[in-house]
Amino acid sequence: MFDQKNSDQQHSDAPLRLFNSLTRTIEPFSPIEPNHARVYSCGPTVYNYAHIGNLRAYVFTDTLRRTLLWKGLDVTHIINITDVGHLTSDADAGDDKMEAAARAQARSIWDIAAHYTDAFKRNIADLNILPPSEWTVATDYVPQMIAFAQTIAPTHCYELESGLYFDTATVPDYGALAGGRDDAAHARIDPVAGKRNASDFAIWRKSPAGEQRQMEWDSPWGKGAPGWHLECSVMSQARLGQPFDIHTGGIDHREIHHPNEIAQNQAYCGCTDTQPGFTGARWWMHNNFLVDRQGKMSKSKGGFTTLFSLIDRGVHPIAYRLLCLGAHYRSELEFSAENLGAAVTRLKRLVMAIEALKNRAEGITWQSPRLDYLRANLHPKLVPLLEQFDAAIADDLMTPRALPLLEEVCGMKKVPVDERLCLIAAFDQALGLNLLTLARADLRIAPRDAAITGQEIEAELDRRQAARADKDFALSDEIRDALIARGVEVMDGDPLRWEWRLAFD
Ligand code: AMP
Ligand code: ZN
Repeated sequence: MFDQKNSDQQHSDAPLRLFNSLTRTIEPFSPIEPNHARVYSCGPTVYNYAHIGNLRAYVFTDTLRRTLLWKGLDVTHIINITDVGHLTSDADAGDDKMEAAARAQARSIWDIAAHYTDAFKRNIADLNILPPSEWTVATDYVPQMIAFAQTIAPTHCYELESGLYFDTATVPDYGALAGGRDDAAHARIDPVAGKRNASDFAIWRKSPAGEQRQMEWDSPWGKGAPGWHLECSVMSQARLGQPFDIHTGGIDHREIHHPNEIAQNQAYCGCTDTQPGFTGARWWMHNNFLVDRQGKMSKSKGGFTTLFSLIDRGVHPIAYRLLCLGAHYRSELEFSAENLGAAVTRLKRLVMAIEALKNRAEGITWQSPRLDYLRANLHPKLVPLLEQFDAAIADDLMTPRALPLLEEVCGMKKVPVDERLCLIAAFDQALGLNLLTLARADLRIAPRDAAITGQEIEAELDRRQAARADKDFALSDEIRDALIARGVEVMDGDPLRWEWRLAFD
């Protein structure tokens, strides 16, 4: 498709640099195994639907994964499903979230887990997030968790009536990831009596005497269930080995869950060093929160927004992905009707521009060839955009800088359409917006409670058009008012040629 154009020019890959929460610096990334990155992402606790804040965490990991792929690496990516062990308090107090949900809904835990796991996977697919190489389910790993706990128990744990506890004073530099040990913070949230240190945590919780739990296993410490932190140490090690390259999660995990995983990993490997690599993973990466006017969106607080509810309101899920990519993953992102509306419009513009390019390129196939091939063969006017895009995503996944470059390619003049489409396809492999498949019609999702269908709206608008042509403005206004009453916003003179939309709040 291309002529050999730029083969005599020198181009260099921007080195991939990623922020490591462990060192609090941006560091050049190279995988432990040549050309192969191993990534573990803490997955959802499936006692409820994921909210769009949770989903921001997976848009982030997907952007990371796509960037590693863009850089030519093979990626093994594990996401776990926490179906046991996550307590209602982030430390060791309260009930198991799964047991509590099962009681409240009078259903079996297994039903609840299956239902919300399935819903989560639908969210992942709707956001065009690549499925992980493997989903690991916590309850499949209980024997390995017991074996892990047995290995570290003699030197790092002690038993209380309520369970087997990890003594955080037995590992060097506990809490380094969180920026230091904060006993006062742990004391505030963790009232378990008998612990040696406020930051100690349960790695095995015994079932209370006389109480039959839905999920419990025999162990050397009695019937009970594994602690949440133990699960991720065991599953990441089982599937990726130790050390592996990158461990991800939301920024809340930087404070308790990941320091506890690190402490367990250090205990298991007998490491006396907190240097990256001795903590289980070389890189620990965290996305910042999605917040709304009430603060951090959170499942336990309730009143949260799901992706399903956005779709019900007529918002295409990829608009939410675009909203996420418009902010750097380490910045807080505010969710509001205005921000979401702006993302919908931005997506619409992109899709319409690309649709127009595709119409002009009819008969020509475009594809996303390898980066080095693109570099050597792309139209010279496009090469700087490719370089800038590469530099942006290699700079700790700077998607807010990458998106305007995509928009620039869409609007570029005097460059053959097929070459622009080819570059757009390449960019989209990293951004995952599904831009070459999405059509304008796909973006018009009718809200669930819509009182009118798309065809009816189109018919009414045709009638209104005819009335205006006849200069019958009274009838035109009447039709418009009737549409408004049925929840349709008519946008006269819409420069996007969108003309109407079903209003969402
Ligand atoms: P959970 O299902 O509660 O275990 O959370 C799944 C993921 O979502 C974890 O990586 C959390 O750190 C992350 N998370 C939770 N709340 C938010 C939020 N408001 N914004 C971004 N990430 C979040
Ligand atoms: Zn985890």
